[in-house]
Amino acid sequence: MLPYGRQSIHPADVDAVSAVLRGDWLTTGPTVTAFEAAVGAVAGGHPAISCTSGTAALHVAYVALGVGPGDEVVTTPMTFVATASSAALLGATIVFADVTEDTALLDPTAVDAVVTDRTKVIAAVDYAGHPCDFDALQTIADRVGARTLDDAAHSIGGTRGGRPVGDLADVTTFSFFPTKNLTTGEGGAVVAKETAVATAAREFHNIGLIRDPERLRYPDEGPWHQEVHSFGLNYRLTDVGAALGLSQLERLDGFVKRRAEITARYNNAFAGVDGLRTPTQSADVAPAWHLYPIRILDGRRREAFERMREAGIGVQVNYIPAYWHPVFADMGYRRGTCPRAEAFYAEELSLPLYPSLTDGDVDRVIETLVGIIAS
Ligand SMILES: *Cc1c(COP(=O)(O)O)cnc(C)c1O
Repeated sequence: MLPYGRQSIHPADVDAVSAVLRGDWLTTGPTVTAFEAAVGAVAGGHPAISCTSGTAALHVAYVALGVGPGDEVVTTPMTFVATASSAALLGATIVFADVTEDTALLDPTAVDAVVTDRTKVIAAVDYAGHPCDFDALQTIADRVGARTLDDAAHSIGGTRGGRPVGDLADVTTFSFFPTKNLTTGEGGAVVAKETAVATAAREFHNIGLIRDPERLRYPDEGPWHQEVHSFGLNYRLTDVGAALGLSQLERLDGFVKRRAEITARYNNAFAGVDGLRTPTQSADVAPAWHLYPIRILDGRRREAFERMREAGIGVQVNYIPAYWHPVFADMGYRRGTCPRAEAFYAEELSLPLYPSLTDGDVDRVIETLVGIIAS
């Protein structure tokens, strides 16, 4: 079975991880520090805090932005549930706004219609690796006193208007799960433009521990002393994972380039094929394509999914609208709320996309799908 996503592990990655295993630090040590500096460097030069997963990064980011009961978080339904659930866990009310019909990215016009003075965060997702229109979203956020969050689990290495992902929103989160564009095994990161938000994120991801002498309530307690001023969790990445990530980061440009080549090969082959619709790309954007979300028209998505799998080609559907999950349904969220997201979901099929996919593999995917659609 050809998988739909897969990590790219080179001997250099294995060597980097082995070197850490032979050293003194397994947990948070110098390699985590180096990895965070390198993530910050590709993400606009802002501070980065590594975490144990993309979900943890989202939880940390919402905490650092002060999200709690009574707050509203406006987000997209076209995402993995964690974008919404990590804020819901903090007691916030999740408000789903619809996506644009072509890109399936959070639509600023739809956001504008639902923001209130209780809106704390506008959380958009760079779906498939295509950065969102954060200029428009930031304008809305500034107007109502909210912050922007970029769930960039798909888009590390992408740019919009020449600016890198990580520089587009107030806070950006990454996932380094194996199918994503860069991996640490499990892992993630938070990038924050404001120092106070970065500090809050770092403390929450480290149990709330404070060691900065300036901030200690009992500074004369002794050199061993540390304090907790607000509760946190242990979401620290290990040096083992960070070694893999640091080694992977050196090949990020190559990963992004190969993903773009495969995307172009799919686009060329599928252009003009009746029954299929290729993904849309905005003019000022260089996506870091994580998914290739083709649209299967005429109500044939399920058939195409099943026949592709039968042919040994791993396809996926990304995503069911987040509020269809029973946890949201049980809270009173209703189908039909975001019709464009639901229409997109009904047609979407993610085709295999990862750097080690050969042109021959890609052509096999193309021939199989075109064959299914033609019959
Ligand atoms: C993968 C993903 C996450 C969660 O990341 P994990 O590392 O799997 O916890 C969050 N948001 C989006 C859009 C994702 O694709």
